[in-house]
Amino acid sequence: MKLEGLSLLGSGRVQPGGAPQTAVESATGVALEPKFYWASPADVDRAVKLATAAFGEYSRWSPSRRAGLLRRIAELFEANAPALIARANQETALPVARLQGETARTCGQLRLFATVLEEGSWLDARIDRANPARQPLPKPDVRSLLVPLGPVAVFSSSNFPFAFSVAGGDTASALAAGCPVIVKAHQGHLGVSELTGLVVQQAVRDCGAPEGVFSVLFGPGREVGMALVKHPVIKAVGFTGSRAGGRALMDASAARPEPIPVYAEMGSINPVVLLPGAIAQGPEKLAENLAGSVCLGVGQFCTNPGLVLVENSAATEVLLQTLEQAITAMPAGTMLNENISAEYQAGLKKFAQLPGVRRVSGTPVAGHNRATPTLFITAADQFLAQPELMTEIFGPCTLVVRCASRPVLLAVLEKLEGQLTATVHGLPEELAASRDVLAALANRAGRVLVNGFPTGVEVCPAMTHGGPYPATADGRSTSVGTRAIERFVRPLCFQNFPENCLPDELKDANPLGIWRLVDGKLEKD
Ligand code: NAP
Repeated sequence: MKLEGLSLLGSGRVQPGGAPQTAVESATGVALEPKFYWASPADVDRAVKLATAAFGEYSRWSPSRRAGLLRRIAELFEANAPALIARANQETALPVARLQGETARTCGQLRLFATVLEEGSWLDARIDRANPARQPLPKPDVRSLLVPLGPVAVFSSSNFPFAFSVAGGDTASALAAGCPVIVKAHQGHLGVSELTGLVVQQAVRDCGAPEGVFSVLFGPGREVGMALVKHPVIKAVGFTGSRAGGRALMDASAARPEPIPVYAEMGSINPVVLLPGAIAQGPEKLAENLAGSVCLGVGQFCTNPGLVLVENSAATEVLLQTLEQAITAMPAGTMLNENISAEYQAGLKKFAQLPGVRRVSGTPVAGHNRATPTLFITAADQFLAQPELMTEIFGPCTLVVRCASRPVLLAVLEKLEGQLTATVHGLPEELAASRDVLAALANRAGRVLVNGFPTGVEVCPAMTHGGPYPATADGRSTSVGTRAIERFVRPLCFQNFPENCLPDELKDANPLGIWRLVDGKLEKD
């Protein structure tokens, strides 16, 4: 696969145009080959037209044929993993071992959606048979299932160059649903985006899919990305990134003559409540594990525990002392790119200047995009009086809020915005006696964890990686797990259709052998 620095439009490339742009090695700032060229408004339009042309045919592909495409993408991704990992390592500074794990996760989620397609219950097929004899009015024959929305725009995230990028979860779930995808590549990993785009392009060719089912565009979000979101033919948007970026896309969608769903995952401070019993049982170990979770991957996870709530006690003092030592002992790491590094430094400066907030961090280390792990400690009254402390600092950093009592802890929880995750550590009996805390966390988060840390997100059918606004644009959705496919479909109902005009999924004989709700009973036969 040869990098050319050109957007991928269906089976072809755009022509170079405008000023060439440079991809850089994150750890050094040194320019990488080749130069990249931004897509023009005409290129956006061509990608969208190709996607529209592809939708008619692709949306009618059988589930098993779409599953074949997803499996072929996974195969080719694995076959090209060495080149993908090498380039991702240069562009994002993420270690090779982490990128190997992300390769497995990316291919795993493509294959997971393939099995979902073949299993069939995701279609939510329902059949309510006619009853012409019903009184006072005959009952019509009513059947429904979920159908794809149309072309989807996907914005890659910076922190997962594979799993939330060109062939990541948004692309996999949209293709699985039957929607063509146009990716707005992240500027932080242009080369990886092109290589991955070539992998998907090859898979599309190998499987005989219409070429417009997939395109990748390079260019600034405010131009290329916005042009996609505003294009009348785009029917949904998947996004992972900052709140400012996600909110801009939500607002742009709402202002369209035809608003469309924007599924923006915008991050979170992921509160962790440490109950007194859990602290007393092992303050040192708990502090060390917490520091490890805060600094994992240089803190660049949207599930990073950015807020820790503790009730004051003698054991809490031991926990905090150990946490200070553990955070200051953690090595500095290289962040994904200059923007994220600059945002991290700005976030630290902002918190450090606020009254009543103590900063603890190790010695800064010289080097490009280096981040020093940092701990902030404050009291609940200061936290409640300064809403700025509820904003995410994306990086190896957390804020501990000391609460004088359980009512104060609950008052803090009450003020929190929507979160991707919320965690509580407690002994079995104190968890059972802390339903108020659990309920407060469940009200605010998409995933609630007990006695663990939120940073790992298992890819499995039951996973929810979402949460009430502003963690995501739509708290009814998830971007990880098999429910992610539901973002790109809509229910379609067929009333009094002749058998031979119904989709196979709704025919009396159930030729696909899928689970269906027939006259109120779930059945397969
Ligand atoms: P970002 O700045 O939101 O960018 C994500 C994508 O959205 C990029 O492709 C970007 O395009 C585009 N975009 C941003 N603002 C836009 C706008 N107003 N209109 C149209 N498109 C727009 O996120 P990032 O670069 O990944 O990281 C920046 C910050 O986001 C981090 O410091 C962190 O706070 C947060 N973040 C959150 C998560 C998460 O998991 N929720 C992940 C990573 C980062 P261009 O770059 O081309 O403009």
